[in-house]
Amino acid sequence: MSSEAIKKMSLGPEPNLVDYDNAYREFTWGWARDQLDGLPGGGLNIAHEAVDRHALGNRAKHVAMRFLNKNGEPTEHTFEDLRDKTNKFANLLRALGVVKGERVFALAGRIPELYIAALGTLKNQCVFCPLFSAFGPDPIKMRANIGGAKVLLTTTQLYERKVAQIRNSLPLLKHVLLIGENGEKTNVPGTLDLYELMETAGLEFSIGTTDEEDVALLHFTSGTTGIPKGAVHVHQAVIAHHVTGKLALDLHPEDVFWCTADPGWVTGTSYGIIAPLTNGVTSIIDEAEFDAERWYRTLQDEKVSVWYTAPTAIRMLMKAGDEIIKKYDLSNLRFMASVGEPLNPEAVVWSEKVFGIPFHDNWWQTETGGIMIANFASMKVKPGSMGKPLPGITATIVRNDEDRIIEEIKEPNVQGELALRADFPSLFRGYLNEPERYNNCFRSGFYLTGDLAKRDADGYYWFVGRKDDVIKTSGHLIGPFEVESILLEHKAVAEAGVIGKPDPIAMEVVKAFVSLKGGFEPSEELRRELLGHARKRLGAVVAPKEIEFLPSLPRTRSGKIMRRLLKARELGLPEGDVSTLEAC
Ligand code: ATP
Ligand code: MG
Repeated sequence: MSSEAIKKMSLGPEPNLVDYDNAYREFTWGWARDQLDGLPGGGLNIAHEAVDRHALGNRAKHVAMRFLNKNGEPTEHTFEDLRDKTNKFANLLRALGVVKGERVFALAGRIPELYIAALGTLKNQCVFCPLFSAFGPDPIKMRANIGGAKVLLTTTQLYERKVAQIRNSLPLLKHVLLIGENGEKTNVPGTLDLYELMETAGLEFSIGTTDEEDVALLHFTSGTTGIPKGAVHVHQAVIAHHVTGKLALDLHPEDVFWCTADPGWVTGTSYGIIAPLTNGVTSIIDEAEFDAERWYRTLQDEKVSVWYTAPTAIRMLMKAGDEIIKKYDLSNLRFMASVGEPLNPEAVVWSEKVFGIPFHDNWWQTETGGIMIANFASMKVKPGSMGKPLPGITATIVRNDEDRIIEEIKEPNVQGELALRADFPSLFRGYLNEPERYNNCFRSGFYLTGDLAKRDADGYYWFVGRKDDVIKTSGHLIGPFEVESILLEHKAVAEAGVIGKPDPIAMEVVKAFVSLKGGFEPSEELRRELLGHARKRLGAVVAPKEIEFLPSLPRTRSGKIMRRLLKARELGLPEGDVSTLEAC
């Protein structure tokens, strides 16, 4: 591609994507592929693009990852360090007889060993599958068995608390690699000591020929709408990771990037590991959980320039108030993005007020492997909109009735299912062991996302809700997001989750669950005030008929409100799979 629309990486503040329309028109995936090197002997391997090609070039001594442990103490790894350590991990797997295509699972917090294992696994052409370290024994067992885990990397503590008791029900698991506390040697029967193996593993590793279609990653979905699905991704996905990091997150070589997501969720791998590395930037990785003061301090002390986080975290920061922000120097921050849930307009307006720059919402799924729709640095942000499709991504809105025929909706502002032409590299290649479910996602060359959205006359996409969450009331279809956003505008409201409650006359009525900000107490008066506020803004049909106060809303570990759980609890039905439910 010759266009000036996508600039070569530059140190200047100019966005990588300067002219959306031109970039969209001229982009080809062939051009994107040419931004990467490929393996010296042919083929494409994520770990080579993320680590080795920089270690071989002029970024060898550049800090690739800067880890902060729970006490805030840093450990840095340059690209060269990462190459050596990931080589050792790949050699270690090879020595254990773990071969191409076999699955390596990780159950650990955001510690260096997890990241080294991820990349070393890819070098050895095995499939990497990260799990949330907070999972209990059952969710671990279910995923490890569905995924056919051959190796599990975990810490001594997590092993003893969660894995030892299920070890006998993991028949395929051959090797458990233990990370001892503070680098100490471990001595647990039936396991291997990671450090001991790393010490003796060779430093040189040459990645075998990797086909672009070789399986690289296995990610379980968040389980927001049901039992988590295992989405399979291939090495070719790195083309999308790289180019979306550049275009949607606007990564420049001198950036310090902080993706707050855990690798247990796809964002923490695609953008917490791969995209920043392929783009050669420094990543900050914080082991600690959310804490408003710590987060602002990290942004300041680490001089974070690009920050990628999630709506729940943003709402928690809003809840913590505006005063504490003034204590910190956040002048390095130049681009902020959000993903995972709808970002309510109020949050965008707030970010502009307190940071001087808006959060840029973007949309994607475990299944799409990378960002699909985004608000770009060079584009006007419309608060509440997910933005426009990435160059290379054909998005559309379709009518999708039960009869398997889809029809594209060309007119603006008409709600339908969001569909993507199934022709981009990071699209999943299967749901593990569920071929029928996978096939059902595709019609007429399109991947059907299961989300409802609208496109406005300017080409911006607006999220309406998940198909499963949409409320049918008195002949209208209502997306929960619209109602939640209005409730979140009220000064007392910290979080809102909206469901359809069965009703003999209206079919369903809108019911809202609300948690309050500090300093506000549930009361009949406040309930009436919120009902009135919603009715005034939304009209009587769309506004909730009922509001219930809860101390907090049930969320997945990746921060998504679990509306299906609110509904099950409301109706006294079984809660279904709660393996990803965050402990409240
Ligand atoms: P499951 O598929 O198991 O129910 P999940 O869909 O929550 O879980 P993920 O793949 O982590 O699992 O999440 C993708 C979904 O998150 C999208 O389909 C969409 O519903 C929601 N989402 C992600 N980003 C956005 C966004 N910017 N705006 C609105 N919704 C978003
Ligand atoms: Mg989903």
